Amino acid sequence: MRISIKIKLSMFLTALLFLVVLLLSLFVLRGIKANQQDQYESYLARQGKTANTYFFQTLLMEANKSPGTFLENKGQDFAEKLELIIGLPVVLYNESGEIISKKPVLSNNESISETLKHALDKKTAYLTKDSSLYYMTPLLMGDDQVGVVQYNYSLTEYQVFYESIRHMFVVIGTAVFVLGLLLGNIYYNSFANNIISLDKTVDRIKDGHYDTSVMRSRDEIGRLSLGIHHMSQKIKETIHGMEEEQKKLRLAVDKLSRLDSQQKQFIGNVTHEFKTPLTSIKAYLDLLEMYPEDDGLLETSIINIKSETDRLYDMVEKVLQLSALDKYDFELNMEKLELNQELERILNSLRGKLDKFSIRLITELTEGYIKADKDSLTIILINLLDNAIKYNKANGMIAVKTYETGDEVHIEISDTGIGIPKDLVDKVFEPFYMVDKNRSREVGGAGLGLSLIKKNTELMGGRVKLLYSGEEGTSFRVTFPSVQERLK
Ligand code: ADP
Repeated sequence: MRISIKIKLSMFLTALLFLVVLLLSLFVLRGIKANQQDQYESYLARQGKTANTYFFQTLLMEANKSPGTFLENKGQDFAEKLELIIGLPVVLYNESGEIISKKPVLSNNESISETLKHALDKKTAYLTKDSSLYYMTPLLMGDDQVGVVQYNYSLTEYQVFYESIRHMFVVIGTAVFVLGLLLGNIYYNSFANNIISLDKTVDRIKDGHYDTSVMRSRDEIGRLSLGIHHMSQKIKETIHGMEEEQKKLRLAVDKLSRLDSQQKQFIGNVTHEFKTPLTSIKAYLDLLEMYPEDDGLLETSIINIKSETDRLYDMVEKVLQLSALDKYDFELNMEKLELNQELERILNSLRGKLDKFSIRLITELTEGYIKADKDSLTIILINLLDNAIKYNKANGMIAVKTYETGDEVHIEISDTGIGIPKDLVDKVFEPFYMVDKNRSREVGGAGLGLSLIKKNTELMGGRVKLLYSGEEGTSFRVTFPSVQERLK
């Protein structure tokens, strides 16, 4: 069982007070007893002397001066007179220890015989029984003992006084006990409450609650509370730091494993996509080896080998660009560019391709300045426009629009092409992802354009979004922070 410190302290104070009262009462009561004994012993000794003097005087006045004869004949009378003088009941014994007076008291008692034996040996002796004292003193005539005088003395008065003092101490002792508990409880209350509160604080810290309050008191308990508060704050900070580190570590591990699996997937895709054109080229070469005279085969082979090689070349270039963007801190040559000029330049380079597929181009260009790397911007726009051509329908249309909102410049490229299914709009930005592999391969795609666009845009502080995709075609929007014209 756990006893509270409050109870312990109160009990200690009470026990201390109680002990003091107990010791005090023992000393006082013993003192009273000794004092009372002194009092009645000296009083009775005086009465013994009085008896002897009175016996001597009485005997002097007698004709027959033999003490033995006197006691035998007039002993009873002498005892009665002595009683009147002294005011105490008297019993008279002769030198043989026989009672002369008529009032024997406790004559059959063994202890009184023992006392009498002492008194007959010229010694004063007494016996106390209940509230009575039987005092025996030798009756002497010169040096000779002629008998024994016994006084019956009442101790009631002494005992009543002693008992009243003892009772007083019992009352005081009880009061001290009760008051000690009560006052101790009150006195140690705040002190013990502080300790109990510290104990609870420590329990709370053990359970992981580190927010503690500080006590106002300036004593050691106040300092202890401050110390516990500081310690718990330190523990909290350390644990918080450790948790943060753990979180960072977990994120880093997650990122690493994600990168690892991305890289594995990337390499798998590269191998697969490179193999397809190479297999096709190898097949044509094998056929040519078998039928070297076949002019038709030669013509088809040249066309196909050329287109597969172009695709392969395009792929190699894009893969290299992508991995370079991933691996190195790509050195961008950021400069202020007027967007329309750049678009005009790129659109002009694509005129031939647009005509080839009979695609109409509509432009709605507003002047806008951005800070960008010219080559990267070219990659972004060429790939977006290239897709708009590749995935367009016959006699389709491409609309290029630039506009400014707030401090941003937007380029929107929309086409009337085949569109992208809604559930795949996020996937198309992943490397090597193609909605329809056959169609993409037919048009020379390998699923790398949009990931290159995304990477390059983000590297220059911009973003790319698939705005719309459906039966009417597809619309992409690239956004960059705008730059004021006067700024360089
Ligand atoms: P690809 O080199 O195959 O064009 P991209 O990364 O540029 O690779 O595009 C990924 C896929 O997204 C393409 O294979 C195609 O299916 C789809 N896609 C991209 N742009 C368009 C578009 N304008 N219209 C329809 N589909 C598109």
